[in-house]
Amino acid sequence: APHRDGTSTPPVPVTVLAGPTAVGKGTVSAAIRRRYPQIHLSVSATTRAPRPGEIDGVHYHFVSDEEFTRLVEAGEMLEWAVVHGRNKYGTPRSAVMDAVASGRPVLLEIDLAGARQVRATLPEARFVFLAPPDWETLVSRLVGRGTEDAEERERRLATARVELAAESEFDVTVVNDEVDRATDELAALMGVRGTPASL
Ligand code: 5GP
Repeated sequence: APHRDGTSTPPVPVTVLAGPTAVGKGTVSAAIRRRYPQIHLSVSATTRAPRPGEIDGVHYHFVSDEEFTRLVEAGEMLEWAVVHGRNKYGTPRSAVMDAVASGRPVLLEIDLAGARQVRATLPEARFVFLAPPDWETLVSRLVGRGTEDAEERERRLATARVELAAESEFDVTVVNDEVDRATDELAALMGVRGTPASL
């Protein structure tokens, strides 16, 4: 897939996956970790509490607000943002750089504000927008997962409307019509192919 500047191989194998709330970024990144273990999926730090089943160091690094601030001030965050007006999320810089140094393709699954920061600091990264097939699908996914109350849902839908307009800032759009298909398309964009063991 051609990069924005016309070359096909970016010098830094970092891919940023962003998109509106409830589009399925988490589902696609979980699937890509399963199917393509050669990809390094960045583990973010967050100040939010773990949900049932979430493991510290695997799904997130769960840190206190004080620890998060310390990491930011020490310059250890590649980017960070307050997401949904509530908790802080950030990408630890050193794990990304270590993976790049070891030659692994790296995937960051972050929000739009974070993607814009990476655009500023790591412009040679590849920026992929994960889009819903249509607005109705996005709404029904947000309602269907049932993790937010009505008020929070309305807030996130309002955010999603704004976020959908950011698609044009990205190098390429992947439509999340079907998780396995979208996952394979993303892996192909990252230059990763499946091995029999991972299929
Ligand atoms: P959740 O709390 O549902 O796991 O994640 C909420 C949102 O935080 C998602 O939209 C996700 O993309 C975003 N997010 C997760 N990690 C990061 C990060 O390291 N940086 C930024 N900017 N956003 C993140």
